[in-house]
Amino acid sequence: HTNLLFIRSFMIMLLSFIAIQLNLSFSNIPSSLTTIDVDGHFSFTNNEFAAKDYGNQYQFLPLAVLHPKSVSDIAITVRHVWELGPSSELTVAARGHGHSIQGQAQAHGGVVINMESLKTPKMRFQIGDVPYVDVSGGELWINILLESLKYGLTPKSWTDYLHLTVGGTLSNAGISGQAFRHGPQISNVHQLEVVTGKGEVVTCSLQQNADLFTGVLGGLGQYGIITRARISLEPAAQMVKWIRVLYSDFSTFTRDQEQLISSEKTFDYIEGLILVNRTGLLNNWRSSFNPKDDDQDSQIKSEGRTLFCLELAKNFNPDKIIETNEEIESMLSKLNYIPSTLFMTEVSYVEFLDRVHAAEVKLQENGLWDVPHPWLNLLIPRSKIHKFADEVFGNILVDTSNGPVLVYPVNKSKWNNMTSAVLPEDNVFYLVAFLSQANPLSTGKDGLEHILSLNKRIVAFCEEARLGVKQYLPHYATQDEWRAHFGQQWETFQRRKFAYDPLAILAPGQRIFQKGV
Ligand code: FAD
Repeated sequence: HTNLLFIRSFMIMLLSFIAIQLNLSFSNIPSSLTTIDVDGHFSFTNNEFAAKDYGNQYQFLPLAVLHPKSVSDIAITVRHVWELGPSSELTVAARGHGHSIQGQAQAHGGVVINMESLKTPKMRFQIGDVPYVDVSGGELWINILLESLKYGLTPKSWTDYLHLTVGGTLSNAGISGQAFRHGPQISNVHQLEVVTGKGEVVTCSLQQNADLFTGVLGGLGQYGIITRARISLEPAAQMVKWIRVLYSDFSTFTRDQEQLISSEKTFDYIEGLILVNRTGLLNNWRSSFNPKDDDQDSQIKSEGRTLFCLELAKNFNPDKIIETNEEIESMLSKLNYIPSTLFMTEVSYVEFLDRVHAAEVKLQENGLWDVPHPWLNLLIPRSKIHKFADEVFGNILVDTSNGPVLVYPVNKSKWNNMTSAVLPEDNVFYLVAFLSQANPLSTGKDGLEHILSLNKRIVAFCEEARLGVKQYLPHYATQDEWRAHFGQQWETFQRRKFAYDPLAILAPGQRIFQKGV
């Protein structure tokens, strides 16, 4: 075995020596990278995929992509870059599923780590009173769902779309319609294994290395690469009642949403959508919502006006259908939606959670998935949501609908205030997500420039009116803007950076810190 290792190292050294001497096509690869001995492999060509993301606006080509097979591959690589010191410009970006919007998972001239190649540890389930699963940081949430269901279990908190990695969503927060009750995904993790910016492998939790643990959660990839996560589970239901009702008045809509998220007996999922001047209310790209009563849908037109759609779901098992129906009826009776606009459908638990993927497949077929996505996600204090809505839905977004706009409240008490996630002041705040897609060929209202200018107007209004709004999945150009974003949390954010990634090697695509500065 030792002989084999020796021969392998010798061959690698010999090849890199030949590469340098012959000045081969990859002559600008630091020879040092080719000498790292990993279980997986580095690729130095055909890396264009790592210069792309869902946003389709930023393209930075890396020098190399590591396809790791073990945690030690990641640790050795980061340690190597750390040992090169501040004079080297090499940086390292973990890439999950590459579904960022503004190049956050890219590393210009650096090393991208393709986290989906990391298949260790194999998913390990703990069943019993406090069930959990240990997963690789590069695992997709859809796979965790499918495996968990084999044990009758499920994670508690989701994103609307499941083809995202654990490391990618935990670096932000992971918010969906379950967050009002369970908190975001970062509130449902017991333990992490992390490779820091010095290449150290550290296990952390609220009990052990708590500062690193809370820092990494919502930490935008700044302190370490998540290689393993321990995700909290609960018993899963088999079916879901999926409901949509409409409102013509924003105040009534939000009053009902707030009542629902503060009640003990409530739905399992609560979200909302704004429908700006359009027809076909129920079948937008975001879902495969397909109620039996399609005639009713076609009679409701929203031309020329804005409607508000409350989206609810109740999980159940078929043997409890009668009780579930009674419960739903009782909860709906307390709401003030337009009476003729109740749409209900019944789907499996997986179909409900994986609903956006069904829409993705259709869009992929029509070449409409890989277009620019100039998304804007905002967290808005409850006390300011009406001022925000008056201006944004009353003035800025009156005649356009370039994609769904989500609006729903969550309870701040379900978030751990020690994490790096940045939240508004109030105890209840709204996620408002402008999920636009741009027509790449257009210079008109559905073109990228126009949508970006609308986003700018929305952000400028929030600042001028001092609404205390925070960006979710934030994106800024200067460190001053980042300081303003973090506010009082900036000191802690910066201190942690110096402690865990002092050379600013990690996640350069976030553009918060510059290597060596
Ligand atoms: P990437 O884009 O690959 O990476 C994101 C950032 O995390 C980068 O900075 C990267 O360097 C870093 N990173 C990646 N992996 C790791 C790791 N293992 N360790 C440390 N850092 C890492 N978000 C919500 O909260 N709720 C939603 O409902 C929701 N719906 C979405 C729907 C769609 C269609 C899309 C495209 C995105 C949605 N998002 C949602 C946003 C999504 O959660 C983030 O963009 C997330 O970062 C994407 O995960 P990813 O695996 O693609 O990460």
